Amino acid sequence: MMARSSISGLGASAGVAVGRAAVVQPPERYVVPDPGDTGGVAALQAAIDTAVASLRVLADRSALDSAAMLDFQIEMLLDAAIVEMAAERMQESADAASAWISAMDAYIAGFEQADDEGIRARAVDVVDIKNRVLDALLGRPAGSFPPGSIYVGHDIGPSLFLSHDWSSGGGIVLYAGSTVSHVAMLARARAVPMVVGTGAMTVVPGQTLLVDGSEGRVVVEPSADAMPPARSDGPATAAVAASADRGRVETADGIAVQLSINVNDPAELDHVDPAATAGIGLLRTEFLLKTPADIFNEHEQFAAYRRILAWANEAPVTIRLFDLGGDKAFPTIAGEHGSFLGLRGIRLLLQKPDILRVQLRALLRAAPFGHLRIMLPMVTVPSEFAATAAIVTEEAAVLAARGLDHAVPPLGMMVEVPAAALTLDMFSASAFFSFGTNDLGQYLAAAARDNQAVADLHSQARPAILRLLSLAMRDAAALGRPAGICGDMAGDPECLADLLKTGLRNFSVAPARLAALKAAIAALHAGGHSTVTD
Ligand code: PEP
Ligand code: MG
Repeated sequence: MMARSSISGLGASAGVAVGRAAVVQPPERYVVPDPGDTGGVAALQAAIDTAVASLRVLADRSALDSAAMLDFQIEMLLDAAIVEMAAERMQESADAASAWISAMDAYIAGFEQADDEGIRARAVDVVDIKNRVLDALLGRPAGSFPPGSIYVGHDIGPSLFLSHDWSSGGGIVLYAGSTVSHVAMLARARAVPMVVGTGAMTVVPGQTLLVDGSEGRVVVEPSADAMPPARSDGPATAAVAASADRGRVETADGIAVQLSINVNDPAELDHVDPAATAGIGLLRTEFLLKTPADIFNEHEQFAAYRRILAWANEAPVTIRLFDLGGDKAFPTIAGEHGSFLGLRGIRLLLQKPDILRVQLRALLRAAPFGHLRIMLPMVTVPSEFAATAAIVTEEAAVLAARGLDHAVPPLGMMVEVPAAALTLDMFSASAFFSFGTNDLGQYLAAAARDNQAVADLHSQARPAILRLLSLAMRDAAALGRPAGICGDMAGDPECLADLLKTGLRNFSVAPARLAALKAAIAALHAGGHSTVTD
């Protein structure tokens, strides 16, 4: 056994976990095949073969009627025409995955528009094979590790975190990483103990590690008496006080504030009473994606959005379009990993409209089931908003042509890029605004939010953020548009008085912050607050 040692880092998510070290190397980057590359067709054919093999196994185990349905799917996949359709699109500059998606979407539309009801009913089979092949083509995120173990590596992407089964415990130790990254936020929401910034350390795979996310330390081969009595400090999402105030709270001197919640994972809603909130102010839909293939699964997305609208029970639900890119890249088709200044949010969606169109169709179909608002991430200039709105109109027409129920909800935007915040008066097309101070802060301070070395600049740059918020709130009021805040600042009682001075009254916070913020608002004498209203 190696000598016992203790390594210091920074606690990114509280709690203690003990488990065997799973030392994970950074995944190989996926290379998108060149346009027309036969490698693309070969990869697609291999994925189809995998899908056929898995369907055969299923069919062998199934009852007669479902085996017939699976046989129908196998037959479709064995038809050479199906590869040819996608191969044609690969000539036109698409990679294997995008070509498969657009070929299959056209094929599905043919089924959905058929006069014969029996043929229309088969569309769902085609959707199923489309997703099965995509799963095989894109695979699950690389770098999987056993449930209950301690992930040890340079960094960990949100997609890998989300695809992992944390139900049997486990923790995270990162040589680099940051306490303000998206994955740290997810770890806190799921109460997964996490320590970041340990620097290079030597750990042998399989060694027992104790991760203390509260103290920011890692113990290699801990002694028996160092072992914790329980796995963690308890789920961060659990303690939301039930009350039927619908999220409306007044300061001690009578300023009314509306509190909604930010949701990263529908499981968080199990711990929240909808009557204690003014609704959902931000659903980060990118975190609902478990595999890259989910990006193109309209049916699954529709079902997920419908479930969330049902939870809210007519309260407003603001669903944000995928904010992929930056530290939320999928290693396969979406987003440049690591760059917060490149293709991210709406920029990426407009470059990959197939992704945008699928999500919009799912949202428009979910809209009749509740009070939905759609929010665009990372908008910088009005033309991005206009281009997205035009695609919404086109997809509404597609759904109408397919005879599918839908509605077009209000379209609003995150204000998280300084250029947009400074010119909010130019965004009259937006039905509402929500300030994303996590990003606004990193862009104003020129300090990446996933770099711990510059993390303190975020709090020091607070006066700059507040000045910009005041300016932008004035523009929002002049346009007559409601505006709120959904960045982490909203949940920090220390920022409360200053935020109220900017005119903000709509706050959206992590469920775990709701009870503390309500108490802070009720105790606050805000004093001479601004007359700007939202
Ligand atoms: C923000 O930037 O403040 C925000 C709420 O969005 P995200 O944290 O998902 O980037
Ligand atoms: Mg943001």
